Amino acid sequence: MTSLRLYNTLTRHLDEFVPGEPGKVKMYTCGPTVYARAHIGNFRTFMFSDLLRRYLAYKGYDVFWVMNITDIDDKTIKGAHAEGIPLRDYTSRYAEAFFNDCKTLNITPADLYPRATEHIEDMVHLVEELKTKGIAYEAEGSYYYKIGAFPAYGKFARLNMKEMMVGERVASDEYEKEDIRDFALWKGYEAEDGDVFWETSIGKGRPGWHIECSAMSLRYLGEDFDIHLGGVDLIFPHHQNEIAQTEGATGKRLARYWVHSEHLLIDGGKMSKSLNNFYTLDDLLEKGWKPREIRFALLAGHYRQRTNFSINSLEAVRASLARLDSCVRNQELATGSGAGQEVKDIIALRETEFQMAMDDDLNYPEALAAVFNLVRDLNKTCADGGIGPEERAIAMAALRRFDSVLGFLFSDEMETCVVCDDIEINSLVRQRDEARAAKNWAEADRIRDSLAEQGIVLEDRPGGMTVWRRK
Ligand code: AMP
Ligand code: ZN
Repeated sequence: MTSLRLYNTLTRHLDEFVPGEPGKVKMYTCGPTVYARAHIGNFRTFMFSDLLRRYLAYKGYDVFWVMNITDIDDKTIKGAHAEGIPLRDYTSRYAEAFFNDCKTLNITPADLYPRATEHIEDMVHLVEELKTKGIAYEAEGSYYYKIGAFPAYGKFARLNMKEMMVGERVASDEYEKEDIRDFALWKGYEAEDGDVFWETSIGKGRPGWHIECSAMSLRYLGEDFDIHLGGVDLIFPHHQNEIAQTEGATGKRLARYWVHSEHLLIDGGKMSKSLNNFYTLDDLLEKGWKPREIRFALLAGHYRQRTNFSINSLEAVRASLARLDSCVRNQELATGSGAGQEVKDIIALRETEFQMAMDDDLNYPEALAAVFNLVRDLNKTCADGGIGPEERAIAMAALRRFDSVLGFLFSDEMETCVVCDDIEINSLVRQRDEARAAKNWAEADRIRDSLAEQGIVLEDRPGGMTVWRRK
């Protein structure tokens, strides 16, 4: 198998992926801010982290994946206060919804979902460390990161620091900062925070957003871990600041590969509530779209290109999935005499194409093309009578391997049809095919009716092939 190459934001190059510890991968994804229902754009980003995780597992790596839950920031506090409920009750509602949506979309769970509010001590410790090193300072109860004390600041996000208005304090409403570019690590308590505060060794207040991820990734993945992921909008300031904090405090690199995915567009434009083109998963489910159709649509395209989503694209998805489903069912029906080596060769060729595409910076569109080509090849071999029970087993195993990465070939609705090796039904379907070939319509109809009584629906395909599914 070739080795995986990833576009690394740190180097702005396609870098060969070599984990810190052979066979193991430690990865971190900036998780959702739980102040509202996540939208499908957010899910494309999380689905991409999962696609990478799934592919690494397919390649045999033992992956440890951490995704934080941002349950404290301006928006969560505002939301909880507006409803007059405790912050924890407010954020738990949206965290639950997030986990449910992930499950519905077949996003495999991360190994850990640390919540920011449960790691305040780690954050305080990091701020103290930065203060000791002269990289953080206190002003009116808040703590700020002193950008001028970290020479590498701006390198990651390719910022031109000279152009970043040094010293223009008057333009900012945060007069207490020494430099407008400095950012908050810890926010001293203000009345509008109400009951949301922590009494700590650096005073009463709450953490800034960036310090949350530095503290939680350090705790669970240590220094210099393998892969850090997020949407492109997080490169600056969030990830630049995470790097400044962690590397300022530890003197070690935060992570070795930084992978950022592009945004999802809706009907060619940015998603926005005012344009009413802002979909949550529920919005699409209510319109009658199935989870696997939505998953298929959200995975489409290369992760480094903006991808457009529209209801029309879901229509096309239905047709594509029907092609995949028919292949899976045809294998179920396979009754040919077999051409074992030929089927093995076809699968090996398509699987190599799939791996080469995925190894090339997760070129998903090309990898998917290899899967569709395999489906076409298998359907043809099946129609030519080249697939018997042994070949069927080989083909199904290959499709399952692909599905460990794709997650939409075998859905729950499909499972009943695929998994049961229902020889009796297969045999009845075949008898009906024979009756039709002999123009014995009465017998063909009798068999169809008896199958219908058992909840089996038949679909006649061109060329005399029939596939079946359970209602
Ligand atoms: P948030 O909950 O706002 O912190 O965002 C969670 C993740 O969703 C971040 O990694 C964002 O970069 C990502 N994100 C936000 N908007 C979009 C979008 N339109 N398409 C894809 N990802 C997005
Ligand atoms: Zn983060």
